[in-house]
Amino acid sequence: MMNNSTNKQSDNIVSQSTDVSTNGHSASTSQGDSGRTDSISRQVKGIARLIRYTPNPEETVAFAAKLCYSSLDAESLMEKTEARDNAKFVKALFDMGHLSPFEHASFTFSIEGVSRSLLAQLTRHRIASFSVRSQRYVSEDEFGFVMPPSIAALGEEAVAKYKSQMDTMMGWYKDWQTELGGKSESANEDARFVLPNACETKMIMTMNARELLHFFEVRGCERAQWEIREIAWQMMRQTLEVAPNIFAKSGPGCTFSHCTEGKFNCGKAKEIRQKRKDLTKEVFGDESAADDGVSSGVSASTGSSVSTGASVTASGDVDTNVTGASGRTNATSCCSGCGTSASSSSSASSAAEKVVESIRGTLSNK
Ligand SMILES: Cc1cc2nc3c(=O)[nH]c(=O)nc-3n(C[C@H](O)[C@H](O)[C@H](O)COP(=O)(O)OP(=O)(O)OC[C@H]3O[C@@H](n4cnc5c(N)ncnc54)[C@H](O)[C@@H]3O)c2cc1C
Repeated sequence: MMNNSTNKQSDNIVSQSTDVSTNGHSASTSQGDSGRTDSISRQVKGIARLIRYTPNPEETVAFAAKLCYSSLDAESLMEKTEARDNAKFVKALFDMGHLSPFEHASFTFSIEGVSRSLLAQLTRHRIASFSVRSQRYVSEDEFGFVMPPSIAALGEEAVAKYKSQMDTMMGWYKDWQTELGGKSESANEDARFVLPNACETKMIMTMNARELLHFFEVRGCERAQWEIREIAWQMMRQTLEVAPNIFAKSGPGCTFSHCTEGKFNCGKAKEIRQKRKDLTKEVFGDESAADDGVSSGVSASTGSSVSTGASVTASGDVDTNVTGASGRTNATSCCSGCGTSASSSSSASSAAEKVVESIRGTLSNK
């Protein structure tokens, strides 16, 4: 049965589908997939859609964690657990780095209009499940392709050159297909060796919430390659919509924790924090994104508590009372670009501990 969140998600899918018809390959032509032969109709753009997720993901995470703290059996715990404290509890767990309960909530995405280059990066994430369109069973004789924005920005001539190269490779592929006996599994599997990294692929991918938090941290970062970064931000938006407390502090290190890139930092932390803040506003509007009083704290990668130096609220607001990069010279400073500091003593962590302690107390009294 669909809950409200699921309905909201369906709306989201519809609006994203509209984007596909504007930016994607076939919907804007009258030919449809089977008739697309010119490079213009074969150019694609990446779209990630959240298609399924664990029902009541936040309740599931909270329940799993509460079980750790209670002597009650599972059934009694489910009956007696107050649903209303889940939001605060889930955020506190995150701040404390108690992340294993987050593994009980899974999110499944369809990802289309992306390159094989993206696929290579995405599948490096081992705590994920993938089903990818096969280049053996599916002929690539009309393959779609992704165009890097850097090439598009060079202007019409460069774009035409790139498309013509795609057409040339399509020709090579078809030649080999024919020489190897025509469209078939055995011909496709070897003809594909002349296909480019730009070649379109599509897949279904499932990650649990803990892995997603890690994924958003490393792939939402400016240092990540543009295509996977765009997909990461699309996914971040959709998970935020359906599990706002689990993903309240999702994003690259600089947004809610600290930059992990050291001397390679992009130097755009302020901009990225604003981008993340804008995302929260777009999803919830100003009012519903109110801070719950638990301040920032944990790196999704390490699970270790950090104090952000800049105070970041759950709504993404950053208190920029920090002096900035140049003012940080002590041993606990993070890097020269993100304006945050890593500290072993964390007020965020102790605030979170208080929340968890209080909920533990409630449970043991039941
Ligand atoms: C900016 C950027 C540049 C990159 N450049 C390169 C590059 O040049 N070359 C290259 O090969 N890769 C590169 N990568 C890929 C990167 O090295 C990782 O393979 C990829 O990001 C997957 O991340 P992961 O291994 O942390 O996470 P996942 O596989 O998603 O796993 C999540 C976490 O689980 C834990 N974990 C998973 N498996 C194990 C295990 N077997 N043992 C112990 N702990 C485990 C780790 O804590 C890990 O962080 C790059 C990634 C980024 C973001």
